[in-house]
Amino acid sequence: MLDDGECKIAAAKPSGSGVTDPRRPEGDIVIAKSVGQGGVNQQADVFNIQYGLDQVPPVDGGPTPPLKIDGLCGPKTIGAIRAFQQKHFGWAGCDGRIDPGKQTIAKLNEKRQRWIMPSLPLSLTTDGWLLADMLQHVPYTRSCVHAAMTKVQSAKLGGLFAGGSMALVEKHFRIGGRPNIDADLTKIYNIYSHMLSILDRPDVYCTLDTTDEGEFISTVAFARLGGFFDKSDLTGKIVFRRGAYFASGIPDFASFVFIHEMRHYVEQQGDIGHHGKGWVTDPGMQALGPEKTLFNCDTYAGFALEARNGEIQRPGWVRSTQFR
Ligand SMILES: [Zn+2]
Repeated sequence: MLDDGECKIAAAKPSGSGVTDPRRPEGDIVIAKSVGQGGVNQQADVFNIQYGLDQVPPVDGGPTPPLKIDGLCGPKTIGAIRAFQQKHFGWAGCDGRIDPGKQTIAKLNEKRQRWIMPSLPLSLTTDGWLLADMLQHVPYTRSCVHAAMTKVQSAKLGGLFAGGSMALVEKHFRIGGRPNIDADLTKIYNIYSHMLSILDRPDVYCTLDTTDEGEFISTVAFARLGGFFDKSDLTGKIVFRRGAYFASGIPDFASFVFIHEMRHYVEQQGDIGHHGKGWVTDPGMQALGPEKTLFNCDTYAGFALEARNGEIQRPGWVRSTQFR
């Protein structure tokens, strides 16, 4: 059984500077601020420029090999901008920077071949780097899961550090009023420990969507509910999709995606895990009672990140809270 499909951890635009889904730009590429050499280089703008440049055939000055679309403006992105400008404007127009409303952005939109990539489905042969980019965050994700387990264990055992640990558990799970807190803590602990087993063999449990089956499920990742325990169907994996681009360059984001999906994957009671989405401080997350938090995927993801790193300001990549 698939989950209800709203694992769109990255697809929603962060409040403020939104990052456009690179697969489906609506019309021309528009940037808010300059991109490139000496530019403002807002992540969303860089993302769009990289995406646009990759749609320009090399014969028209497009980059080869294509740029990695990560929203970070480094030497390769600047080099690609220069090469594109030189092609169309000569050396005089080659300052390595794209300004809103100026000639380079106009030429870019003119030269984009919009049917050229990224198109689904992904291929493991040619797009395996995307899976590799996600899996590079396995060690960090593991450290977050370990930290979560340590916090929960500390809260269970009591003693010197139990107060702080319990406070963090309370912030995320709100089990304080429950009749059997110890049983709840054991449940949380076991769920994280199952995640560790997945992280031990990510090659077995994770894959890239090469079949397009997830296209209407999620743009980033999805997982088979309870798949970890389903010995009858070993094909049910945690599946990353093209939208994992967004997460692959940000360790906290990648870890959040991993833990969210693993929470689905280790679910044994059939709960979908989408009661509230967003960061722990969001009103929609705060409104969840323990009967929901104990199943909620984003709750497990946020708790592990804060267990690992201490309190975190609401990250920009967390989509705004929704009730599902
Ligand atoms: Zn989900």
